[in-house]
This record gives sequence, C-alpha cells and structure tokens, in this order.
Amino acid sequence: MTAGPMVIVFLGPPGAGKGTQAARLAADLSLVKISTGDILRDHVARGTELGRKVAPIMERGELVPDELILAIIREELSRMKEVRAIFDGFPRTTRQAEALDELLAELRAPVNATVLLEVPEEELIRRMLKRAELEGRADDNEETIRRRLEVYRQQTQPLIDYYSARGVLKRVDGVGDPGQVYCRIREVI
Ligand code: AMP
Repeated sequence: MTAGPMVIVFLGPPGAGKGTQAARLAADLSLVKISTGDILRDHVARGTELGRKVAPIMERGELVPDELILAIIREELSRMKEVRAIFDGFPRTTRQAEALDELLAELRAPVNATVLLEVPEEELIRRMLKRAELEGRADDNEETIRRRLEVYRQQTQPLIDYYSARGVLKRVDGVGDPGQVYCRIREVI
C-alpha cells in the first residue's frame, strides 16, 4: 500500500524560513525535500561543471537560468517511484512554475498546496545577516541580500497570483519562533 502522490511548494522571499520549515514538514509527512539552492550549493562545493557555471550567478544574487534548474528538477523527479515531494526555493519564475505543472501532469501528481511564508523585509535582512555569521553563505552579505530581495519581487512574487488562481495558495505568517511558525503551517496543511 502506498500513501499516494503529494506535492507541496514552499514560496516566499529569501530568509523567510522555507528550508527549515520544509525540512520539518517533509520529515512529518514522509516527503522528499527538493531544495534547488542546496543542490546548487553542493555542486559549487564539489566544483562540478554546473557548480562552476552557477557560482558567479549565485554570488551576485541573480537567478540561475531556468533550463539548468529544470534539468535538476527532471532528474530529481525521475528518481522517485511515486512523487511525494516538497519543493523549497523552486519554482522561482513563471516559466519554472509552468514547466513544473507540465512535468507533474505527466506524473499525475498536481501541486496539492503552496505555502507562502510572509515575513517583513527588515526581518528578512536581519535573519540573513545572522545566518551569514552562522553558516558563512557567500550570498548572505548586505549588497547581495538586497539584490536577492529585488529579484524575488520582480521574478518570483508573480507566482503568488499563479498559485492563488489555482486555489492552492496558503498564506502563513512567518514571524515568530520556528516551532510557532510550524504550528501555523500544520493548521493549513
Ligand atoms: P536559495 O538557497 O533558495 O536562496 O538559493 C540560493 C541561490 O541559488 C539563488 O539566489 C539563486 O542564485 C539560485 N537558485 C536557487 N533556486 C533557484 C531557482 N529555482 N531558480 C533560479 N535560481 C535558483
């Protein structure tokens, strides 16, 4: 017996807590967390061809080309016998969202829910600067953080309407301690 396909998308600006919350939800619901940011950072750390290509883009806080991201997603999905996934940091553009819908339609596993974590901008900057001290991420410096927030507003924020129109958007207040935020997520999932 299987639990059936399930797909959850985490949406929200950088620093909103998507990675932390997605990891916890994935563990509780037996889903595989697919974080394109983590996958790319792993390529950079290993010095692969893809890693060398994307490192300067990530350091500037820009988005990696859709085709490279979609190749990663196709590979991740092809490894699953049954699609039970949480996407963290993907999709980030309308093109990516449309491609994901097409891939999922083939697999008969539509997006069940999109969790939008809402956090005010000053709080996001504060969190990312703190993360810079703890994790030393190359893109967690003030200049790049501002660029990433701008890129989010321009390219990713339109996905709020995209998923809202499909009736799957769940808005969650992302301010507070991680446990509190997780409780709010469980109220809507
Ligand atoms: P994240 O850890 O999700 O904040 O991603 C870190 C960086 O990786 C981003 O600033 C982008 O340069 C790149 N990246 C991650 N996911 C994507 C995506 N879905 N589309 C394009 N670029 C991405």
